[in-house]
Amino acid sequence: MRFDRFSSPLGQPYVSAIEEVPLYHYLLGDSVLVLQMPGCPLRCPYCDRPLLARSQDWSPYDPARLAAAVEILGGEPGFAGVVWSGGEPSLHWDNVIECSRKVHEAGKKVTVATNGGVTADLLRDSPGTVDALLVRFKGFSDETYRTLGSPAGVLENSRVLVESAIAAGIHVELMLDIARNTAAQEQEFSAMLAWVTQDLRRGIPLHLRAIAPEHGFAIHHGPVMPFLENLVESGRRQHVGFVYLSNCHGHFFNNTMCPNCYSVVVDRTARPLDLSFVTDGICGNCGTDLGLTLDKEIP
Ligand code: SF4
Repeated sequence: MRFDRFSSPLGQPYVSAIEEVPLYHYLLGDSVLVLQMPGCPLRCPYCDRPLLARSQDWSPYDPARLAAAVEILGGEPGFAGVVWSGGEPSLHWDNVIECSRKVHEAGKKVTVATNGGVTADLLRDSPGTVDALLVRFKGFSDETYRTLGSPAGVLENSRVLVESAIAAGIHVELMLDIARNTAAQEQEFSAMLAWVTQDLRRGIPLHLRAIAPEHGFAIHHGPVMPFLENLVESGRRQHVGFVYLSNCHGHFFNNTMCPNCYSVVVDRTARPLDLSFVTDGICGNCGTDLGLTLDKEIP
């Protein structure tokens, strides 16, 4: 289902599976209305939405129109709510707050996908606005962020945001861009794993996004599959239970496996998702609590 343009000619809302955000452990199998916000403080040379990221041609989303759209969509089974994406939603935070209030009034959820613009302070000063967060990391060193034209401190802001959001009971998933097959890339991944295991919890989903930066970095290919698979395996060796190759569609490493008995509990190579093996978020084979948030209205 598509909607008339709400505001931006570049960021037309559309309905998507929540797995495409990607969120893999939150309201699995549901759909969401994706609302894109223009502008981005970063300058990734591999940006896949440069018009949106550079656009200043925008007017705020209309809360009343959004409420009407959510009401229509909410009549369909398995509609979770909205996802603010971009670009960078934090650049238009007042509009996010105003519209998200309407979404909550309709009994639906609000997810924000941020590239580091949303801060812990912003979250604290707008309590109840966000139910779930996807925090996208472009790397895990200040040097990588510098090469992407980032303002100082974005990496640290993102780390603090994640820790604060978890403490506030917000559902959080992480994403890391993987643009090169290099030892430096491996080191950044290891540093991120160390942070996850020491300061977060091993059950947090971590999505690896393979980048093919043909028009950006001075290399012509993205990371090769064995390199990506090795990263996932090294996460598992360190007992980080849920590392996914989220934009390698159809790959086995999109499936959710129980970190205790290694059963595939959610097979993402099939649509619609079969969730019969994770009733109440529990592994159907060994009974391990997988920390999944399920939509109770989906049978
Ligand atoms: S953070 Fe995302 S939207 Fe912003 S420039 Fe980089 S790839 Fe583009």
